[in-house]
Amino acid sequence: MSKPATTDLNPPLRHLLGPGPSPVHPRVTRALGAPLLGHLDPAYLAIMDAVQTMLRDAFQTSNTLTFPLPGAGSSGMEAAMVNLLEPGDSVVIGVAGYFGERLVDVARRQGAEVVRVDAEWGRAIDPDAFVSTVRANPGARLAAIVQGETSVGVLQPIEPIARGVRGTDTLLVVDAVTSFGGTELPVDAWGVDVVYSCSQKCLGCPPGLSPITAGARAAARFATRTRPVASFYLDLALLGKYWGPERVYHHTAPAPLVYALHEGLHLLHEEGLAARAERHRHTAAAFYAGVEASGLTLHVSPADRLPMLTTVRIPEGVDDARVRGRLLNEHGIEIGGGLGPLRGRVWRVGLMGHGARPENVLLLLSAFERVLGTEGHRSESGAGVAAAQAVLARGAAD
Ligand SMILES: *Cc1c(COP(=O)(O)O)cnc(C)c1O
Repeated sequence: MSKPATTDLNPPLRHLLGPGPSPVHPRVTRALGAPLLGHLDPAYLAIMDAVQTMLRDAFQTSNTLTFPLPGAGSSGMEAAMVNLLEPGDSVVIGVAGYFGERLVDVARRQGAEVVRVDAEWGRAIDPDAFVSTVRANPGARLAAIVQGETSVGVLQPIEPIARGVRGTDTLLVVDAVTSFGGTELPVDAWGVDVVYSCSQKCLGCPPGLSPITAGARAAARFATRTRPVASFYLDLALLGKYWGPERVYHHTAPAPLVYALHEGLHLLHEEGLAARAERHRHTAAAFYAGVEASGLTLHVSPADRLPMLTTVRIPEGVDDARVRGRLLNEHGIEIGGGLGPLRGRVWRVGLMGHGARPENVLLLLSAFERVLGTEGHRSESGAGVAAAQAVLARGAAD
């Protein structure tokens, strides 16, 4: 038998400016290398407590069930559906893009009957239409909607929906995978029952954890289930007994990822929730100005734009894959392509978490100008960068 060929592990350094993962903050990278602890070591339990406290602050909630699930953002989506639904339950789901569609898929896998509220890919769902559908289906177990639709770059207003759903027996679930840590979502003040997110978008951490919070109404539902939750790994009540004072072993903790999340949340608290959200809006505004000054078009109208993810229309005659390939190979920049009906029609640019910085805006705009200039879309030299710089110079207070 021949020996397997071995090579050095040497991934290239990239500027991660796509729909995620986003750049990892250097302090988070440092945290990943901290000494490994066992999942019941008192020193580790103290780190868990700190993570929980910081997560509750970030979600602006006092929910007991607040902790990171093991896995990507999808594990939060899966956990919400598998814990709250039983076969035959009805669910109202807002669908304005790929992740709304995924919610439908995950709910149907639990045997649920899905009532859809659709919007065109590129627009927010009308809150009144969503609320009236929930009210027209009083037996619905839950209503689920995506706050930041990463496939189209739309920010969905949640507050009017939460206000309208409050007072019904339907639980409200919000997907904040992209938006958490980068825009406002005060869970308790708005009265949202369950919110889940991920570590690798606005928190500046590597992928692998999905922060989730579930309120008392959601927890009460666990007790009235007629059959056990179909997933042991994502059973929130069991996980709550490990994260709570009981400390009952559930699964081996991915301690390095929890250290990373600890540092990512610490950074969020140092900066402040409001300042972090403002930084995302300000960085995005500079990028919008630069894109438009480059003669490119934004897919979403100003009122519906998601600060951390922008969709840029691909100009007529320009080859989508070639441009993305050249950005990666010549400039070390990753951006995303379109999904579903937007495939080949838009690029997806993420300025999220540690990536939401002025230098990334300027870097991408100048790379765009160089690459597009020889791919069929010429723009005035330096116009994009200058327009972005003008917005940045006005300061975050603008
Ligand atoms: C990224 C994303 C997901 C999925 O997260 P993964 O970490 O890729 O599993 C779900 N919902 C939204 C809105 C997302 O942006």
